[in-house]
Amino acid sequence: MKYEPVIGLEVHAQLATRTKIFCGCNVSFGDEANSRTCPVCLGLPGALPVLNREAVEHAIRIALAVGCTVQERSRFLRKNYFYPDLPKGYQISQFQSNEEMPLATGGGIDIPLGNGTKTVRLTRIHMEEDAGKSIHDEAFVPAGESMVDVNRCGVPLIEIVTEPDIASPDEAYHFMSRLRQLLTYTGVSEGDMEKGHIRIDANVSIRPVGASGLGTKVEIKNMNSIRNCRRALELEILRQIDSSETGGEIIQQTLLFDPDRSRLRPMRGKESSDDYRYFPEPDLVPVVVDQVWVNRVRATVPELPHARRARFASAYGLRADQIDTLIADRSVADYYEAALSAGAEPAAAANWVQGDVLRTLNERKIDIAELKATPEGLAALLKMIGAGTISANSARDVFAAMAETGASPEAVVERQGLAQISDASQIEGLVDTVISEHPDVVDRYRRGDRKLLGFFMGQIMKATKGQANPKVANQLLRRKLEDGTARA
Ligand code: ADP
Ligand code: ZN
Ligand code: MG
Repeated sequence: MKYEPVIGLEVHAQLATRTKIFCGCNVSFGDEANSRTCPVCLGLPGALPVLNREAVEHAIRIALAVGCTVQERSRFLRKNYFYPDLPKGYQISQFQSNEEMPLATGGGIDIPLGNGTKTVRLTRIHMEEDAGKSIHDEAFVPAGESMVDVNRCGVPLIEIVTEPDIASPDEAYHFMSRLRQLLTYTGVSEGDMEKGHIRIDANVSIRPVGASGLGTKVEIKNMNSIRNCRRALELEILRQIDSSETGGEIIQQTLLFDPDRSRLRPMRGKESSDDYRYFPEPDLVPVVVDQVWVNRVRATVPELPHARRARFASAYGLRADQIDTLIADRSVADYYEAALSAGAEPAAAANWVQGDVLRTLNERKIDIAELKATPEGLAALLKMIGAGTISANSARDVFAAMAETGASPEAVVERQGLAQISDASQIEGLVDTVISEHPDVVDRYRRGDRKLLGFFMGQIMKATKGQANPKVANQLLRRKLEDGTARA
């Protein structure tokens, strides 16, 4: 029998707020353990939570960007469970059922499929608070003991839940890439996977190809890399197919993926929502989002990646793969368009941003905001290449210096003497010298060994430290060498 996978994702994204969701503690990363807490996020008796308005606005903004319906009225509930990194003994979250609506429902995200796209439908986007972190394996933790850092308790999250519409690990990869891109474009999340800003739970089952029902699902929890999510799904699908083919039973369970060993291990039997004893949070009023508020947030949704993709194709005539690279990151796309506004030509600027600009960011591990070479500087550099003031080759050195010091290209060219020699009379003198210094080579050239032109070009470049305009030098050389043939 042939099987096909069915996948649904539950994605936690950390909202880019300054403070936590129900208290004024700073959201932080890498601070001293347990230094960012207060009675509210520690869950001390009698402390009262107050909802962070900015967190709600972020959640509304991404909901609008992916076409969700924003519910006019939703509630927070207590999801009860015991965990060492959850001092309150419950997590404040939202829920979806016949009676209960979360902040946003419906919507979808388009992913590439073959030559077209496919829509992965969303079930909901709900808000909740993060839990703390248990620490087992750091050097300072005594063997066999665990420590707890509750700085992360109360950090605002949204959970984005998809319908089981994803049909392969690759589709899951594309979905996650697009979702992360939308979250960062809208400024809803910084989307830094290494800091755990986005964490993925992947649900997966298999069924005979063409069947319409759903098989028993297994959940792979808490992955913080889009690539690892794809790898874990590939492994789990193979395991399920193997198990089905050998007459085994697939049991509903929760697994953890160990990327270092490429292994999945059981975490626990899956609990159902009944186990959490959800009940309405008595200390918070319902979230009421009226149309005026929705419209105000709608006005802050920027141009989204798919619109930008279409505009880059029609306005600048770029190739699809180029566009994908340029718009992957909103700030890179902004940089590119700032260079165009400063007069750069679209195709040349695209090559440079894709090439030396992104390479510099990778090499230095910096964001484009930290890049000292400005888009205006890049535009000026491209103009100098176009005008023949510098060669394409030295332009790369000039850019490296701009990125290093923040100097303008004019200043770098001036300081390093990189200006290209395009003056024909100056080059003509060099050509004459080179020809008179190598009579035997000239002879061989004139007897038909045209490849020797390269030798003469090399001599000219050596004499000018590579700054002779190659086109001018080439023309002059050919004329002089071939004039000679005519005379001989
Ligand atoms: P639970 O009650 O276990 O939380 P839900 O029905 O709420 O399950 O679904 C949780 C996630 O699992 C959703 O993303 C959903 O699309 C996905 N999912 C549900 N059933 C299946 C299945 N049989 N195979 C794969 N994914 C599934
Ligand atoms: Zn607090
Ligand atoms: Mg559920």
